[in-house]
Amino acid sequence: MDTDCLFCRIVAGEIPATVVHETDTTLAFRDIEPKAPVHVLVIPKDHHPDIAALALADPGVAADVLAAAAAVAETEGLRTDGFRLIVNNGRHAGQEVAHVHAHVLGGAPLGPMVS
Ligand code: IMP
Repeated sequence: MDTDCLFCRIVAGEIPATVVHETDTTLAFRDIEPKAPVHVLVIPKDHHPDIAALALADPGVAADVLAAAAAVAETEGLRTDGFRLIVNNGRHAGQEVAHVHAHVLGGAPLGPMVS
């Protein structure tokens, strides 16, 4: 755990979150500023700064994050009409929190991807 990391502190229960799914290695909770009717963040419990670092260090947990995102899509009712899965990686992608997180977005047409 990185004590300066917001999402590590959510994993530790030090900061409240609305948790929708949990496994041994992952946690999924609602985004505090939702950009769609359903907006859930899926994270590994262990601290990794971004998806590239996680995939290189522990590809099994990277796969766990994908599986958890699929489970969230199922329980949130997004499988029929579809959903978007986004992982911002680094500064140019606009990553704000340096603990890898996958955004699960859905519940309405989302429009085109921004450039
Ligand atoms: P990024 O831009 O891909 O790093 O996304 C960071 C996301 O974390 C944003 O969508 C924020 O709204 C979200 N966020 C920041 N703080 C919290 C929190 O305390 N709980 C839940 N979501 C948060």
